[in-house]
Amino acid sequence: MPKIRRIDALNYHKKHRPGKIEVIPTKPHNTQYDLSLAYTPGVAQPCLEIEKDKDNAYKYTAKGNLVAVISNGTAVLGLGDIGPEAGKPVMEGKGLLFKIFADVDVFDIEVDEKDPDKLIEVVKAIAPTFGGINLEDIKAPECFKIEETLRKQLNIPVFHDDQHGTAIISAAALLNALELNKKLIENIQVVVSGAGAAAVSCAKLYISIGVEPENIIMVDSKGVINRERTDLNEIKQQFVTNRKINTLEEAMKDADVFLGLSVADVVSKKMIKSMAKDPIVFAMANPDPEISYEDATAARKDIIMATGRSDYPNQINNVLGFPFIFRGALDVRATTINEEMKIAAAKALAKLAKEYVPEMVAKAYNMKNIVFGKDYIIPKPLDPRLITTVSSAVAHAAMETGVARKPIKSWAAYERELTE
Ligand code: NAP
Ligand code: MG
Repeated sequence: MPKIRRIDALNYHKKHRPGKIEVIPTKPHNTQYDLSLAYTPGVAQPCLEIEKDKDNAYKYTAKGNLVAVISNGTAVLGLGDIGPEAGKPVMEGKGLLFKIFADVDVFDIEVDEKDPDKLIEVVKAIAPTFGGINLEDIKAPECFKIEETLRKQLNIPVFHDDQHGTAIISAAALLNALELNKKLIENIQVVVSGAGAAAVSCAKLYISIGVEPENIIMVDSKGVINRERTDLNEIKQQFVTNRKINTLEEAMKDADVFLGLSVADVVSKKMIKSMAKDPIVFAMANPDPEISYEDATAARKDIIMATGRSDYPNQINNVLGFPFIFRGALDVRATTINEEMKIAAAKALAKLAKEYVPEMVAKAYNMKNIVFGKDYIIPKPLDPRLITTVSSAVAHAAMETGVARKPIKSWAAYERELTE
């Protein structure tokens, strides 16, 4: 891939019509008759049907395929608290990805509100418009309360992608890395660098899929989260270790897995060398990981390494998840995205990586062929099988757990629809 130049990125966003998305009508609108159906007087009929039963909004409006990507711009990419306007290119970008990968329509909504309680009120107030809500780039620890409250109070999926997207994709990678290394999940020692939105959600999902809570050591900017710490918020308190260690260096000794969701360059080659046999290192700080791919792979030949970057093997890329997770959830009109649906998505991704990869996928990445192994533990974003695999798994899990309000009757017909 050519290097991204500032000028090219700016021109891309500015050329033709500024921005990356637009609204396109889906009904005929060429005659006066069409317009009388689209607007008054015809439009009153669906209004009255929806007044009788709110669920009819799914039948007569775009609600069922419409997701709000909502941000207050407080934790945008690696850029930090840059404000709602400055975050808009990212939210529009997310809209573009939802559309091209899973045909989900998005309104990006940038809200000038940092107070969690007020933001919750804003989101609740606009929720009737949408079939689902993707919270985006909202800073920790506020993001936890915002999402948790909205999940409880709304009957549509609310999903903070920075938390769960990363957790799902990295869990898929972890399952496959463990399979390659023939290690059992219940035995592994895991070091998590970072205690923010992504790190906390990853640790929780890893526990859901079998990691023993006492085998996780979490490290934040002040060191290991242990019994001696008196500065911990409620979220971090869930990850206090009983072990009497204070530094990342001590934590890394004999660890099977390192999960980095913190900042660049906190891991040294020496730390990688001190890890257990066949170490798994997911260094995902963006754009520069906790240790560079070159340094980590030079330190250990037996390493399985993943990063958040597209220029190295095993990119933990959220686009493998959110479009398809929402697709599946919307298609069964799920009231939520629960733990089982997240695990189903992770397992579907893990399984897909182990299947034969069509030549066209390899070609899209300028590779001869792609085979399951150390350098390919998760699928590639341009794999056309993602939509059927992940969306179906999520829809299925929603049905199994009783949160699907519109179950799928024929899976074959559903999969055909997804690929049309
Ligand atoms: P966040 O909520 O701001 O959390 C950052 C965490 O890093 C905080 O807990 C912070 O500690 C901790 N930290 C800072 N300096 C540290 C140090 N020297 N050692 C250990 N921990 C340190 O951010 P986030 O959304 O979770 O994202 C974290 C990083 O992961 C970012 O670089 C982001 O780009 C990356 N990320 C990558 C992917 C991906 O590749 N798919 C997905 C999500 C996130 P305190 O709590 O003490 O402040
Ligand atoms: Mg984000």
